Amino acid sequence: MTDCIFCKIVAGDIPSARVYEDAGVVAFLDINPVNPGHTLVVPRVHVERLTDADESVVTAVAAAVGKCARAVMAATGAEGFNVLQNNGACAGQVVPHLHVHIIPRSASDGFRFGWRQGGYGEGELDAMRRRIAGRVS
Ligand code: AMP
Ligand code: ZN
Repeated sequence: MTDCIFCKIVAGDIPSARVYEDAGVVAFLDINPVNPGHTLVVPRVHVERLTDADESVVTAVAAAVGKCARAVMAATGAEGFNVLQNNGACAGQVVPHLHVHIIPRSASDGFRFGWRQGGYGEGELDAMRRRIAGRVS
């Protein structure tokens, strides 16, 4: 896709700090890291959301996330890491090319997710379970 910044990075048309690449993916440092070592894994093929990707693309991305997360941990000495993947502007996706964030973390880094968690009313949990389970394909 010609006007996609991550397609341009994959093609080498704009620079990036690559840490890994294979036939399916490219991984590079996020230019505005939450913490140093914050890495993005992107498929070579342009798809916007995880739900747009073929199983082979999902598999390639997932395998690369595992490899790169181990390298990020070893290189940064982080205590832990978050794997984050945003789908849609409402979910915080700014770049519309599938990407997975690997964010190295330490207890003292001051970064906090603001989870807002609710609950289910009587019967709602099982109704939702059935609605989702019946659509997995
Ligand atoms: P998201 O909000 O999930 O779409 O995340 C997009 C990420 O891409 C942000 O964390 C940006 O800092 C990062 N980003 C945008 N442009 C570049 C670039 N040219 N090189 C590296 N990272 C980038
Ligand atoms: Zn793209």
